[in-house]
Amino acid sequence: MERTARWREWEIIMDIELKEADRKFREDVRAFLDENLDAELREAGVKTSGISSAHAPLMRWHKILHEKGWVAPGWPQEFGGTGWSDMQRYIWQSECARANAPKLYPMGLGMIGPTLIACGTAEQQEAYLPKLLSGEHIWCQGYSEPGSGSDLASLQCAAERDGDDYVINGSKIWTSYAHHANHIFCLVRTDKSTKPQAGITFLLIDMTSAGISVEPIITLAGDHEVNQVFFDNVRVPVENRVGEENDGWTVAKTLLTFERSSAYAARLKLMLGNLEALIEEADDAMLVKRHAELAIRVAAIEMTEFRVQAALADGRPSSSGSSQLKIMGTEAQQDIDLLAVDTLGARAAVWQPERRDMGSNVDAIGPEETQVILADFFNNRAASIYGGSNEVQRNIIAKVALGL
Ligand SMILES: Cc1cc2nc3c(=O)[nH]c(=O)nc-3n(C[C@H](O)[C@H](O)[C@H](O)COP(=O)(O)OP(=O)(O)OC[C@H]3O[C@@H](n4cnc5c(N)ncnc54)[C@H](O)[C@@H]3O)c2cc1C
Repeated sequence: MERTARWREWEIIMDIELKEADRKFREDVRAFLDENLDAELREAGVKTSGISSAHAPLMRWHKILHEKGWVAPGWPQEFGGTGWSDMQRYIWQSECARANAPKLYPMGLGMIGPTLIACGTAEQQEAYLPKLLSGEHIWCQGYSEPGSGSDLASLQCAAERDGDDYVINGSKIWTSYAHHANHIFCLVRTDKSTKPQAGITFLLIDMTSAGISVEPIITLAGDHEVNQVFFDNVRVPVENRVGEENDGWTVAKTLLTFERSSAYAARLKLMLGNLEALIEEADDAMLVKRHAELAIRVAAIEMTEFRVQAALADGRPSSSGSSQLKIMGTEAQQDIDLLAVDTLGARAAVWQPERRDMGSNVDAIGPEETQVILADFFNNRAASIYGGSNEVQRNIIAKVALGL
């Protein structure tokens, strides 16, 4: 879509601080993206409305980035990160969003990778990190259970010690991309006799182990993204434990800080930019006002993101900063979705989910944008729930930052 003058002006405002070296870096990034994002990869990016893009193009993009050495910009360089500055990482994220690059799975690169760097043994780092970077290992997250979501510490999936193994029985739910993953990191109950947080252990589990089955759950947007995973006498070697037995809660909290610090601003800016032409066409002052207010909120999110990511990179994770970011990012996302639906009016009611299939040749009814607007609207309702609901994030801020 053609970018309008107002959108370009806004981008320029955000560019004021860019130094010469960073401009050169941005040119290099743009050249790389131009050369490597072919039509199929861009189509996957445009059609992404869930957490990650379609599996096959996503993995192809993962491997291209791995070959270039750019797949884990947030990791320390000695573990395979890029050694980029905060500004370079920000430029990278912005340029990927603007070029419609596929969205990679966050559970490996964004969650278990940094957690193993922080809490894993040298053997675990050696065994898992290179395969995570190469894309050989695809991870999913086994935290939530039927009956244990916000009150995560009440989880019941049990692990009993038997020789050099744990034997797992129980189930995990809402497990994103478990149907594509070959590994799952899990919180399991190893002691029922103590207070809930003190009886949890963190395990790394091979999804091909005997006794694991995965059942799909289809979302309101018609997508297969989440699943229920069942464990029936699954044997897991003790060496797959991260941290001490019954101290998994500490590891779990470290991981959640990484999970809640995802980058929102670049994609939110893209969503707002894509809406400009539709809003101008609608010629409605209230829509223009809402768009401008959202642009201001997104600029504030961008600044918060710099702050939280710089603290994380310095080894000073801030759980209340991550919680703030999660609330601000997901609420802005949902408000942009609502603005998009309101702008389309009755045309938003057109529901053609098959148009989001890769390579689909179904004729579009109405404007091209409708293919993702309604799916985004439905899928992003979940964004204020997963990763710990926003109400729970507010409780964390009240406790940690305000001391209430
Ligand atoms: C699309 C999607 C993908 C997900 N992917 C994963 C995944 O990959 N792995 C994984 O482990 N989990 C995943 N989840 C699960 C997610 O983390 C949980 O849904 C979330 O933690 C909320 O738990 P719950 O669904 O049991 O809701 P509940 O805990 O039952 O909450 C219901 C409502 O009550 C509110 N509430 C609960 N407790 C409090 C409180 N103390 N104070 C104020 N309000 C409260 C909540 O905010 C919510 O509005 C996913 C969820 C979704 C929707």
